[in-house]
Amino acid sequence: AASIQEIDALIIGAGPVGLFQVFQLGLHEIKTHVVDALPYAGGQCMELYPDKPIYDIPALTVCTGRELTERLLQQIAPFAATFHLNQLVKTVNRAPDGRLLVVTDKGQQFLTKTLLIAAGVGAFVPRKLVVEGLDRFEGSQVFYEPRDHLQQLGPHPVILGDSESALRAAIAICDAQAASPNTPAVTVVHRRDSLSAEPETVDTFRRLCHSGAARFLAGQITGMQDDGRLLSSLTIALPDGTASELICSTLAVYLGLSPKLGPIAEWGLDMDRRQVTVNPATFATREPGIFAIGDVNTYPGKRKLILCGFHEATLAAFEVAQQVFPHKTVALQYTTTSSKLHKVLGVL
Ligand code: FAD
Repeated sequence: AASIQEIDALIIGAGPVGLFQVFQLGLHEIKTHVVDALPYAGGQCMELYPDKPIYDIPALTVCTGRELTERLLQQIAPFAATFHLNQLVKTVNRAPDGRLLVVTDKGQQFLTKTLLIAAGVGAFVPRKLVVEGLDRFEGSQVFYEPRDHLQQLGPHPVILGDSESALRAAIAICDAQAASPNTPAVTVVHRRDSLSAEPETVDTFRRLCHSGAARFLAGQITGMQDDGRLLSSLTIALPDGTASELICSTLAVYLGLSPKLGPIAEWGLDMDRRQVTVNPATFATREPGIFAIGDVNTYPGKRKLILCGFHEATLAAFEVAQQVFPHKTVALQYTTTSSKLHKVLGVL
């Protein structure tokens, strides 16, 4: 089993609010670890609207979701938080000494004095393909949103989906395979013939289909067959109402990501309509040492805005600092004039 990391503060969620929490805790000289289910930081800003403009961040007339994320990462760089991406926090339990034992689906374990839940509308996890019996092959022959090791998908890989990542995966498989005119290197299945990836990617994919390197099939996966041990083929319902069987050694599913509050709802926190209730003075939950900030929390007057999440992270940091350093007087200092803050920011 992986060793347990003993830490002062763990943040669940690398959305804008989780990122700013790193900054505010950093000013109090608290080093943070951040876990996110996504393979990158930015939360909704990166997953849902990377190229759309935001107009209500103070003093930034306009910036895109991606720009805001990049600027936050730059701002928190001095604090060197440790990011644990691509993993979901599954359980939170109280250790006998009062600290919190937090475990992820990749087996990482943290024993932390404080936990800051900045989980937004939930963890972004892949949408599942619902076909009876298929879940038995998850992880061995069925993969969700895989981004690498695509060359190792076996002799008859099938890709489901029309997104940028789906078609890029198809192209990568063709690139890795020596050209063989009779058997396409990959079959892409999507319910209709119009594809939503970037036009350039769609063009490349269509050229590969034209040359016979790849194959496209309009239809829906409605069933599967196995040989008793391994997944062997899929049933595809075709637009004309007939069905066909498609040999399949590996299935890579790209149906996109959707946010799931998932495990957080099971940690025994006080919740109101799927949001964690907090004290708006400190953003503490009713559970000692556990805080909730950003879109995931609720209190009288709550508004789900990035600016409000920044405020919440700022006030939470004062209370966290008091809990991490119980004998210290936690005082407010200005970044403009405090030499201590200049030192932690590395701007001396
Ligand atoms: P999120 O951004 O949701 O990030 C939460 C992160 O936590 C996610 O990355 C998720 O994967 C991770 N996570 C959750 N649970 C777990 C778990 N168990 N384990 C691991 N990771 C987990 N707000 C504004 O202020 N101005 C705007 O102009 C604006 N425009 C918007 C436009 C759109 C289209 C949308 C959808 C939202 C907009 N918002 C805007 C809202 C804003 O994006 C949210 O308020 C903000 O993203 C909340 O930040 P957060 O950090 O609390 O949560």
